[in-house]
Amino acid sequence: MVIKKLWRKVRGQKKEYSNRFLKFYHENKTRLNKERRGSYHVKQKKGICVRCKRKSLKNIVFCSYHRKKQQEYNKKARST
Ligand SMILES: [Zn+2]
Repeated sequence: MVIKKLWRKVRGQKKEYSNRFLKFYHENKTRLNKERRGSYHVKQKKGICVRCKRKSLKNIVFCSYHRKKQQEYNKKARST
């Protein structure tokens, strides 16, 4: 059976990671990425700064402190 052969191939490949950290990463990357993206959007929705846990300003994802930091960073990035 072709399908059975393919299935065995897929299952076999799953175990071939050079170390267990890589194995964990590959087996959980979809979930990990989802969680990372999730928390950013949850914070954005709730009006919490994405860099700390303070309340963010209206229409942006930073609190007043981190907005200032970001503006300073942008200024430096543009001038060089
Ligand atoms: Zn902040």
